[in-house]
Amino acid sequence: MSDQYAVIGNPIAHSKSPLIHKMFAEQTGQDLSYEAILAPPDGFAATVARLQKEGYKGCNVTVPFKFEAFRLCGKLTGRARAAQAVNTLRFDAAEILGDNTDGIGLVTDIEQNLGCRLMFGNALLMGAGGAAHGVIRHLFDAGASVVIANRTMEKAEQLAAEFAGCGTVTADSYEALAGRQFDMVINATSGGLSDALPPLPGGIFKPGALAYDMMYGKETPFMKFAREQGAAKISDGLGMLVEQAAEAFFLWRGVRPDTRRVLEQLRRET
Ligand code: NDP
Repeated sequence: MSDQYAVIGNPIAHSKSPLIHKMFAEQTGQDLSYEAILAPPDGFAATVARLQKEGYKGCNVTVPFKFEAFRLCGKLTGRARAAQAVNTLRFDAAEILGDNTDGIGLVTDIEQNLGCRLMFGNALLMGAGGAAHGVIRHLFDAGASVVIANRTMEKAEQLAAEFAGCGTVTADSYEALAGRQFDMVINATSGGLSDALPPLPGGIFKPGALAYDMMYGKETPFMKFAREQGAAKISDGLGMLVEQAAEAFFLWRGVRPDTRRVLEQLRRET
């Protein structure tokens, strides 16, 4: 039987992860299956336990379970420990290994696929959930300073406090952003899932700025706003999805797929 993997989330029907891992497996000759599993809000741990019992080798974790996944792990990679959120589980014989591949996925997409420089850039990171936790350290490591804005201000303040020693970071309310400009504005909220636009003031994009939405599969209200506001480059999160998936694939299989080919094919066909 093929080695089994899955992605667990809620909602999950929109996920392109099964297609991406199928493409990786075909490209690299790996014998595996990968499916999307919807877990009820209080059913994440039970779903993981079931997969382990059934002999799955690992899984990805998406909205809203990344913090719960972190707490389930017996062992963590350095980047998962830093993020305190986990998007990749590997079921080892003795324990669960947790990793977080979101940050490397985002930075690789911005720098290598989109050709934008993070070094010396000032970034507005919207959201303070699992995805924001996963990427913030990597933005610092790439040389960017970060302002965090979140609907629930306390969570933005908490995230900024957690990472205060790692780089230049502050937390601000959306209202306090009026009159300020950024080299890149990254939407790490799940607002796009319900067609919601974070309450951004106009004039937020510096000339040449990048507007990046981690959502993928459609033009989100944030991407539309960025177009209307004249952002120089606008991207959805499909490239990040492919790059973070490739890191998870490497953790599980020890093989690196050619992400550029997969991303090109996805952009052509979906
Ligand atoms: P979480 O549920 O952990 O966090 C959601 C965040 O979005 C919170 O900060 C929440 O604010 C904010 N939010 C939710 N609804 C709204 C709204 N209507 N207006 C403003 N803010 C809102 O989710 P994740 O962090 O795990 O994921 C966030 C998004 O990023 C998802 O859409 C996910 O699909 C995407 N993602 C994409 C990846 C990719 O590879 N392309 C990888 C990882 C994530 P509050 O604290 O106030 O509740």
